[in-house]
Amino acid sequence: MQRLMDKKSQAFLSSDHSRFQNPESCPALVLNADYRPLSYYPLSLWAWQDTLKAVFLDRVNIVSEYETKVHSPTTAIRLPSVVSLKTYVKPPQYPAFTRFNVFLRDSFSCQYCGSEQDLTFDHVVPRRVGGQTTWENVVAACSPCNLRKGGRLCKEASMFPQHKPRQPTVYELHDIGRRFPPNFLHESWQDYLYWDSELQP
Ligand SMILES: [Zn+2]
Repeated sequence: MQRLMDKKSQAFLSSDHSRFQNPESCPALVLNADYRPLSYYPLSLWAWQDTLKAVFLDRVNIVSEYETKVHSPTTAIRLPSVVSLKTYVKPPQYPAFTRFNVFLRDSFSCQYCGSEQDLTFDHVVPRRVGGQTTWENVVAACSPCNLRKGGRLCKEASMFPQHKPRQPTVYELHDIGRRFPPNFLHESWQDYLYWDSELQP
């Protein structure tokens, strides 16, 4: 939950390369052939091993590199920090049904009282009466509201979500996501993540 408390903190653009000495902390941002991220939620990142494999298989272009190198017996290679696919992949219209994406759809606020603290999930139609775990029936709720509503229906508890829950599109999540940047972005990713929105001063 602490991660959610920090959600409004500005994206941290690191200039401290010491963070990147370990190859394990050098994922590559993967762009589609149109130079947009392959996916935003979750952000398309590959471990350095997968990235180098794709480079050697000639499936990606290297767009940007880390200072960090990995060494083979004969050569040293700088790890890619941004790669782009050579073949365009049609992005999915709908995002994955994940805990993070439900929070994001609901702007990290309780759908009953608006609180941003102590968030969990609530089944609008309780599971005991057949409520499903789906986009249409799960909302972000603070623990107190979740407890107060208990296993009751909305009208029994007189508690109704602020927005009728539904499946968002990738574009809708992306719009909301601009207000909640990830806590850490490598500086070489900056141009590809928020290129179409104004940068904060
Ligand atoms: Zn609440």
